[in-house]
Amino acid sequence: MIDFSFTENQLAVRDMAREVARKIIIPDIAEFDRAQKINPTLYPALAEANLLGFCIPEKYGGLGTDYISLGLASEELEYADTSARVILSVHIGLFSLPVLTWASEEQKQKYLVPAAKGEKIATFGLTEPAAGTDAVGIQTTAVKSGDQYIMNGEKMWISLADVADYFLAFAWTDLDKKKKRDHTGLSAFIVEKGWEGVSTATIHGKLGVRAGNTGSIAFQDVKVPAENLVFKEGAGFKIAMFCLDQGRYTVAAGSCGLIKACRDACVKYSKERQTFGVNIEQHQLVKQMIANMEAGYEYSTYLWMKAGWLKNQSLRSTKATSLAKWIACREAETAAANAVQVHGAYGFSDEYPVERYYRNAKGSSIYEGTREIHTLMQADYALGLRQDRPLDRDLPEVEQ
Ligand SMILES: Cc1cc2nc3c(=O)[nH]c(=O)nc-3n(C[C@H](O)[C@H](O)[C@H](O)COP(=O)(O)OP(=O)(O)OC[C@H]3O[C@@H](n4cnc5c(N)ncnc54)[C@H](O)[C@@H]3O)c2cc1C
Repeated sequence: MIDFSFTENQLAVRDMAREVARKIIIPDIAEFDRAQKINPTLYPALAEANLLGFCIPEKYGGLGTDYISLGLASEELEYADTSARVILSVHIGLFSLPVLTWASEEQKQKYLVPAAKGEKIATFGLTEPAAGTDAVGIQTTAVKSGDQYIMNGEKMWISLADVADYFLAFAWTDLDKKKKRDHTGLSAFIVEKGWEGVSTATIHGKLGVRAGNTGSIAFQDVKVPAENLVFKEGAGFKIAMFCLDQGRYTVAAGSCGLIKACRDACVKYSKERQTFGVNIEQHQLVKQMIANMEAGYEYSTYLWMKAGWLKNQSLRSTKATSLAKWIACREAETAAANAVQVHGAYGFSDEYPVERYYRNAKGSSIYEGTREIHTLMQADYALGLRQDRPLDRDLPEVEQ
């Protein structure tokens, strides 16, 4: 049976996210984006609405919702601004869900509970100055010394780096395997920002996501307690790929919010702007661009919903999630470029929101797997060169 309807719980969550988006984000987003500053009321509002505890069971301080709800909230937040959806992507997709799945009970009590309650902010640090796509090219090391690891290295392009309280950070624990580029030498750790030797900085001058924080993290002889190793030594690569399955999902659903925002802006403008004595909505080539937004939104939505359905059943969703992320981001980029086009010269200025959509849409074809990587993944699935094998841990089933 195929059911495209949403449950009452899912709709309630969507409405809650919509309210935060419309009341807290949209009114001042142009100013915060221009000033490249975070709206100081945003994090408290997300925490108060329990939007930082998606899909995390109530016993760990979360909202206990399902993965479709997470998708719906991602869409609502990105409709307002990409920077707000990024918070869900890293805090929940790349940190809380992996910690729920892979971490020890002690780690969950110490780090997951405050994150799910919105008392602490968390993020994910894999990328480095010289390695993004090539994850085994990272240089950060964590060398065991008694009951701790000594961590050295630098992370770059990390969302929320300068605002997060702790990070899921990836490092080589086996230096021989590092030389051989054998990913089973990588491990994952929870690292606190307040520890000696940890420093963070903000990256300025970004093309998009300007109302959000992106930065770098440096680890200099950081003493990471052995109890902060997640799961076991050598599991870091698998955990990182698992994280990306959840983060990408929120990017896919969020991109649908951006497509919808482009469509709504174009519908409004094309009913106001006249050329040759008629509203531009009358011109077939303008209609074509709006029709493409409509279609792109619709089929991208089905793709993330399928991935969400798999996640709700605790089934492996790497292929479906990658496809949803690739297509939704591609459609968002096209929709945003056409939204600027529909607005003519006005689209080229920040008097209208479409130039922000255009700048923000570009980022999503880079982070959480570039457009090229998702293209290659889908080709490899089709060619039989890749298949989803069982992981050591599955995403926990959630209340529906
Ligand atoms: C706004 C923003 C937020 C981010 N947030 C985070 C975060 O929170 N945590 C985190 O860890 N990282 C984060 N990143 C980093 C992001 O994940 C990386 O930028 C991404 O993985 C690409 O890596 P790269 O920039 O090093 O590009 P590269 O890997 O150097 O790639 C450069 C180009 O080569 C192409 N390419 C590379 N390898 C191949 C290949 N095998 N085949 C075909 N083409 C290839 C790429 O597609 C790309 O076009 C963020 C980035 C941005 C822009």
